[in-house]
Amino acid sequence: MEMSRLDKAINLIVIVVPFVGVIFATVMLWNRGVDAIDLGLFLVFYVLTGFGITVGYHRLFTHRAFAAKPWVSNTLAVLGSMALEGPVADWVADHRKHHAHTDVEGDPHSPHLGEGSGLRGLFHAHLGWIFHEEDRADSSRYAKDILEDPSLSLISRQFPALAVLGVLLPGLLGYALHGFEIAGLLTGLLWGGLVRLFFLHHVTWSINSVCHFSGTRRFPLEDHSTNVFWLAIPSLGESWHHNHHAFPRSAEHGLRRWELDPSAALIRLLARAGLAWNLVEISPERQSQLEAEAIVDDAASDDSPLPDATSARLPRRTRAWRALRALVPKKPATKPSV
Ligand SMILES: [Zn+2]
Ligand SMILES: [Zn+2]
Repeated sequence: MEMSRLDKAINLIVIVVPFVGVIFATVMLWNRGVDAIDLGLFLVFYVLTGFGITVGYHRLFTHRAFAAKPWVSNTLAVLGSMALEGPVADWVADHRKHHAHTDVEGDPHSPHLGEGSGLRGLFHAHLGWIFHEEDRADSSRYAKDILEDPSLSLISRQFPALAVLGVLLPGLLGYALHGFEIAGLLTGLLWGGLVRLFFLHHVTWSINSVCHFSGTRRFPLEDHSTNVFWLAIPSLGESWHHNHHAFPRSAEHGLRRWELDPSAALIRLLARAGLAWNLVEISPERQSQLEAEAIVDDAASDDSPLPDATSARLPRRTRAWRALRALVPKKPATKPSV
């Protein structure tokens, strides 16, 4: 499947224009040409559209980590669309493909494939992958449930309009809040639109690049996923990405008390308000059990689009252990010390 020149141009614009916006904004900041309204628009739109991605696109639509009232789920899908990371069906499909083929052939954005495990690999996982249509997922295969949901498929198809809204709305709010001045419209567009998109995009892409490249690991997974504490707040909890690969359906990615996870806090808040239910939770016992295991069956090597119905994906055998087993095929497995 070749990506059309128009698609490539649009992707390039979505990457380059916010970057140019950040340069403008930096100059304005230097000259103190920014006020509390602009920064407020940046923060509000960052958090709202960020949650659209983390709570909506990722935990709800991709992994079904909880169930929610239709208006809540539709709102999250609209907010996620306003983050300009693609239509919900495409995002879900790419991400499910990433889970089905993590760091192996077929992963749309691994920093360890094709371009090697160095800086080129890191760049590919960060944003280069967006231009590699051949590695992207087919939504009719990986996001069939989204396409079959009338509201979600409508929101997915309306992505171009919602993307424009995602940039225009902060501009219009800036215009109104600055006493209907054109300068307010422009700074609203800049801070609530472009600068917000720049930071949100790079933080989201860091989950694909940094969180498969460096950081800490707790569970015996065969992939390269990591937990990256310094990205926890800007990523709204998504940078506990190694935990997430261990338990993809968990509503919480921060599994320990100190692993701050604002997205999980929002899901718990929605549950308390009766707007969300059936939260997938991983007990501390289940975590310790997995932590202690070094040999388990590979339950996730198939590429089934939906995660399996159990609350956790089992970790894969480590490559080293596989090699050892190959040397002594008949011997019953013993647990190596961890
Ligand atoms: Zn990952
Ligand atoms: Zn995921």
